[in-house]
Amino acid sequence: MNTPDGRDPETPRFTNFRFGHDPQPAPEPAIVLAVPHPDPLTPRGIAITCALCGAGRDWLLIQVNGIVFVRCRCAHEWQEPDLEGGDVDIAHTNGPEREWTDFDEMYRGLGFDGLFRMTYLG
Ligand SMILES: [Zn+2]
Repeated sequence: MNTPDGRDPETPRFTNFRFGHDPQPAPEPAIVLAVPHPDPLTPRGIAITCALCGAGRDWLLIQVNGIVFVRCRCAHEWQEPDLEGGDVDIAHTNGPEREWTDFDEMYRGLGFDGLFRMTYLG
């Protein structure tokens, strides 16, 4: 199995070599898991709402190194300390998986780039 950037995991990544310095393995890129979540989120019994547009459901859950961010259709995004990585894993069903080259492409592809603000698609 390859790393997200298509490398063999046994082959270390190297930063640019600087004269007089040994090349150092570069840090692994963050593994990001993004899962659409059409239902309301109530991590502590209180439904999460978007502070910008007031939406109450149809989220994109984004997990980066165990930290969970919630993104709204209006493109407002925030870190949600009441959610943990396990919550994203639970929401991550066996649906089709897609890989994206960057966040902007992912947001556009999933409809979370702000185009569908004030709209529930899920
Ligand atoms: Zn919003």
